[in-house]
Amino acid sequence: MTTNRNTSRPLIGLTTYRKTITQTSSVSYLALMPSYIEAVTAAGGLPVMIPLGLDEESLAALLDRLDGLVLTGGGDISGARYRSAHAEYIFDVDEDRDRVELTLAREAIERDKPLLAICRGHQVLNVALGGTLYEDVFKRMPGAMKHDYFGDFPRSHLAHMVTIEPDSKLAMALGRGEAKVNSLHHQGIRDLAPGLKAAAYAPDGLIESVEADGHPFAVGVQWHPENLIADEPAMLALFRGLVDAAG
Ligand code: MN
Repeated sequence: MTTNRNTSRPLIGLTTYRKTITQTSSVSYLALMPSYIEAVTAAGGLPVMIPLGLDEESLAALLDRLDGLVLTGGGDISGARYRSAHAEYIFDVDEDRDRVELTLAREAIERDKPLLAICRGHQVLNVALGGTLYEDVFKRMPGAMKHDYFGDFPRSHLAHMVTIEPDSKLAMALGRGEAKVNSLHHQGIRDLAPGLKAAAYAPDGLIESVEADGHPFAVGVQWHPENLIADEPAMLALFRGLVDAAG
């Protein structure tokens, strides 16, 4: 059977990051881990990478054409974006990426454009709407457990449980009240932004998922579902939720 599959699949934009590699000289690339692309594709979306460096008008024009958006993982947001006084804990900042993603997040919320915000993206969504972050969860949040499973841990390492709010979009997507998740972050949400509600918590009380009130689908998760799909197919449901809302 022939279908118009390519034109009917929702177009999902994914943000990228800048990676500088020293070859004969220092060369800068815009990059993205393929697991994000694979997850959007598996969920029925048509993925496209969003470059950094675009001006606000271009970002708005891009968002006009996109049916949905994924804010991807990455380094820290500049502390200046949430009036942090603890620069000593903040690293791997890209001011241009902050500008691009904060703009896209605000516009997506304003325009009711479906949005899945992953790890750094979950933090971007909170900062974009006026929230703040723990510059380092372990050092700044009383009673915090370990969340920074970097280094020798595979990205799919199941680090801790999350308990999920029963009436959330996350609960609807995953069809359960708790889940085991990976944890590849050293920062986290401190003050929740107005307009967001918490949808899941780690055992230490850290907010691990948010969603925007009254929005068709704006969900943030502090973990990396795109790295869990092979072991935990239910995590694909988050991407299905995005693609269905975008369709
Ligand atoms: Mn965590």
